[in-house]
Amino acid sequence: MRLVILGPPGAGKGTQAARLAADLAIPHISTGDLFRRHVKDGTPLGVEAQTYMDAGELVPDRVVNGMVAERLGDDDTAVGFLLDGYPRTLAQAEVLQSELSGRGAPLEAVLRLVVPEDELLRRILTRAAEEGRADDTEEVLRNRLAVYREQTAPLEDFYAERGLLVDVDGTGSVEEISARAHQRLREVTGT
Ligand code: AMP
Repeated sequence: MRLVILGPPGAGKGTQAARLAADLAIPHISTGDLFRRHVKDGTPLGVEAQTYMDAGELVPDRVVNGMVAERLGDDDTAVGFLLDGYPRTLAQAEVLQSELSGRGAPLEAVLRLVVPEDELLRRILTRAAEEGRADDTEEVLRNRLAVYREQTAPLEDFYAERGLLVDVDGTGSVEEISARAHQRLREVTGT
């Protein structure tokens, strides 16, 4: 199955993506993880990305699109994939659409984790405190939500217009949310 998971910071996207990909036996492709690996390995791509990541800004589309296209070219994606953290801008979504239609393998669904805003802020502040990330001040976290609203939220309409958007209630336990996601996927894909 070829899927994208969308959701603001704090929606539990990474956790749900890892579980769903494992259950569906498809690769979990997280652009954040790919960038962190490049940074750790000190590759030229990592060096370029780090400045943006440290500032909480988006890495330029050109860099991200190239990295994703390369990853999607790997053999393991023949069975499908779950993209997590990509696309994050309309320009990325358009490149992905044309890349996949060129391969004759379009997206089948875009899962959106829906969580109320006050709950999001509560979750990300708790996580920042637990992980001791002193740089994650409330202001920075609010800003990350704002970046999502401005740059990534328009993708919700983009995919809704194409009949791909599938809402999943992102509140409750990790297990409950996964069960709902599977249920919704069964409904829309008929599997
Ligand atoms: P994440 O772990 O998904 O929050 O990603 C960590 C950081 O990597 C983000 O704050 C961005 O700087 C960068 N990043 C990850 N995915 C993308 C993307 N699709 N477009 C631009 N930047 C990205």
